[in-house]
Amino acid sequence: MTVEAILLDMDGVVFRGDTPIPGSIERTRELRNAFDVLFLSNNSTRTRASFAEKLGGMGLEVEASDIVNSAYATARYLAEMGRFRVHVVGERGLARELRTAGHTPVDSGADYVVAGMNRHLTYDGLDSGLQELLDGAELVATNDDPTYPTEDGLHPGAGCVVGALRGMGFEPGAVVGKPNRELMLYAARAVGAEPSECLVVGDRPGTDIAGAVNAGMRSALVMTGVGDGPGDADVVVDSLSDLSDDDILGLQGWRFEN
Ligand SMILES: [Mg+2]
Repeated sequence: MTVEAILLDMDGVVFRGDTPIPGSIERTRELRNAFDVLFLSNNSTRTRASFAEKLGGMGLEVEASDIVNSAYATARYLAEMGRFRVHVVGERGLARELRTAGHTPVDSGADYVVAGMNRHLTYDGLDSGLQELLDGAELVATNDDPTYPTEDGLHPGAGCVVGALRGMGFEPGAVVGKPNRELMLYAARAVGAEPSECLVVGDRPGTDIAGAVNAGMRSALVMTGVGDGPGDADVVVDSLSDLSDDDILGLQGWRFEN
C-alpha cells in the first residue's frame, strides 16, 4: 500500500493560533505537489470556508472542500440519518455548517443538542441546552478535546462544554471528532483514498494518532503542538518541516510489516 493522501491536522502542526509554525507552510506546499492533502481540525468554532480563508492568509491556496473539521463532520454525521432540528451549544461556525448540511438550528423543540467549543459559554446557554435534553433531545458532541492550543498556551477546549453537560447527567450518543473514526473517514472519502492509503500528521497522540489507529490509517507525530503523551505514531518528527519524503516512503511497507 502506498501513501496517496496526507491528512494534516492544522492546530499545532501548520499553525498555532494565528501564527504559522516555522517551515510548515513551505513543507505543506511541497506535500501538496506530491500527495492529495486534506486539512483536519477538531475545532468546531469555524466553518470550512473560514479555515480556507485563514490558510489563504498564510499563503496556502485552499478550497473549503480541502478542509474537514469537527463542525462539518458532525453536520455530515447527522445528515446521514436525516435532516434535523438542532439546538447548538457552540459557536456560529458550527451552526452554519449544520445549516449547510440541511439541518435547522432552533432555540427549542430540537431533535439533537449539538455541543462544541464555545468561547462565549454562559449559564443561560447551558440551561437552554439542558431544557432541550430534558425534553428528549439527543446529545451529540463535535469533539471533547480538554484544551485548545494557541500562541500563548492552552485554553479550555470543547471538553469543558461537553463536561458541563455530562455533569448534568447527559452523555453524548456520539463524539464525532478525533479520536473517533468518523472525522477521519470523511476526510479519506473527500480525497477518494482508502484509509490504508492515508497518512495522518498530528501533534496530539490522544486525538490525532489514536484517530489514525481507529480509522486504520498510518500516522506521524510532530512535537510542535500539545504533545500529550508518546502515543502509537508510526513516525515521530520535531516538526512538519522535518517530515521527509524518506519518512513517508518508509511507511510504504507498513501493511506487510504489521
Ligand atoms: Mg492539533
